[in-house]
Amino acid sequence: MKYGRKLAKCPGCLPDVKGAYFDKSWDADGNDVWKCYNCGHVLPCRKSPVRKAGRTAAQSKAIERIKRAVAENNTYGDPENYEFKKIEVKDLDWGHVSMVTEFGRKGDEGTMAALICRDYRHFFIGPKGGISMVSAKDGKKRVGLWESIHCITR
Ligand SMILES: [Zn+2]
Repeated sequence: MKYGRKLAKCPGCLPDVKGAYFDKSWDADGNDVWKCYNCGHVLPCRKSPVRKAGRTAAQSKAIERIKRAVAENNTYGDPENYEFKKIEVKDLDWGHVSMVTEFGRKGDEGTMAALICRDYRHFFIGPKGGISMVSAKDGKKRVGLWESIHCITR
């Protein structure tokens, strides 16, 4: 149990104003509760929501948005001739998704274009679908899809 104190309305002694002190305490079953400092009234503690393992719907949507944006911005008006060379999506332990994209000209394998013209990006997607990218060029973080797509990667 973490120590804590909050001001809240107390049904026991102060029902209309958020002005009663509650201290973190525990009930007979060992559950965390808030206990009114003044009258002893007990409120249940809201449990911090446990995040479900796995990707959120917002993250899946963001992955598709990134694919579209990378493709749209790197085909130089010639979409037929470009393709994803690699899309690597990983669910990270702390709830973020890591996504690496590599995009380039079709058939560039083994040519200089494969070495210098491909577009590499490493995105991070937050649980709510927030997109960011750390630029390989300056190490600075870009926030948002537009910023991430329009930053030069090398
Ligand atoms: Zn009270």
